[in-house]
Amino acid sequence: MAAPETLAAQLQHFVDGATGAVVPAVHPSTTYARDRSYQLSAGLEYTRDDNPTGRAAETLLASLEGGADAICFGSGMAAATSLVRTIVPPNGRIVISRALYQGLRIWLREHCARLAIELVEVDATDPTNLVNAVTAGTALVWIETPANPTWDVVDIAAAAAIAHAAGARLAVDSTVATPVHTQPLALGADWVMHSATKFLNGHSDVLAGALVTARVDEAWASVRRLRHFEGNVLGPFEAWLLARGMRTLFVRVQRASATAAFLAGHLAGHPAVERVLYPGLATHPNHDVAARQMKGGFGAMLSMIVRGGQENALAVANRLEVFLRATSLGGVESLVEHRLSVEGAGSLAPPGLLRLAIGLEAPDDLWSDLSVALGA
Ligand code: PLP
Repeated sequence: MAAPETLAAQLQHFVDGATGAVVPAVHPSTTYARDRSYQLSAGLEYTRDDNPTGRAAETLLASLEGGADAICFGSGMAAATSLVRTIVPPNGRIVISRALYQGLRIWLREHCARLAIELVEVDATDPTNLVNAVTAGTALVWIETPANPTWDVVDIAAAAAIAHAAGARLAVDSTVATPVHTQPLALGADWVMHSATKFLNGHSDVLAGALVTARVDEAWASVRRLRHFEGNVLGPFEAWLLARGMRTLFVRVQRASATAAFLAGHLAGHPAVERVLYPGLATHPNHDVAARQMKGGFGAMLSMIVRGGQENALAVANRLEVFLRATSLGGVESLVEHRLSVEGAGSLAPPGLLRLAIGLEAPDDLWSDLSVALGA
């Protein structure tokens, strides 16, 4: 089989059978005609179940992740909540890593309280914590790696072994790693989740989510069924943009990760910076796991803790001219965010932390922007 870069660049060697076009068409049709014997011509019936434009993105993602199937959703949150609601029953039990996208953590706390689900939050970077937390009756272990905003890296193979030994399943939010750097299913995970809004699409112009499964089984059929009934699908125009964005995934992520590593190295020696959090730095507490688990780089996300706390961090953010002050990540433009201001009460982000989402600008432009803002 061709290398993942080739599969992505060519959208799995896409050529339209009817026209020879090397780019797929957008199929906005919500419904599909039957012939006179009342048969569907391509198995497609209604766009809430399936859409050929969405299928192009889904099959490419399944193959990049080494999965058996993938489905897209209207957002990353829709993908995550659909999986949790399918797998974890009322009065059930779920174990999650403490470092997690804040929106999902808040939803999990509310959802679990409503349905009397026991929610256990652990520092999953230490497998011993997982061993202690994942007891019999746990339906799902949910981890994010590298995780917002400290870029904690969880050992996926260890987490999978621990989950499976207790009869639980493992889901991994791999939004930041992307299949360029990590393939969680090959390490034993049961499902991979993406906020495809981020690196998969890559241009800050589509809200999308995706789940990839290791096996097409009863659980997967239930996830599909939930999407069928709830209609949490990705529209064909967004799906088309997503498939187009994914064609350049490798070159974008490799370049942005290399720039992030360059910036992390420079920031680490800066007197105005107390600490740099980047899994590629030997000083990161999970560097060894990251070096083992991530290939070809450590991702395009890093955080710096500015000396002097919140006031200084906000002053640095306000002096930046190239970085845009905005939430999100994974686009071609670099973003800075003061996580504590955005997350508010309950945030685990230290007051001096600025999150940097690295894009595709010239690395020297980004570095000079940061060094001027920090006071070179
Ligand atoms: N997971 C991670 C790691 C994220 O950063 C985000 C969004 O910021 C999500 C999930 C949620 O995805 P979406 O915004 O596409 O719903």
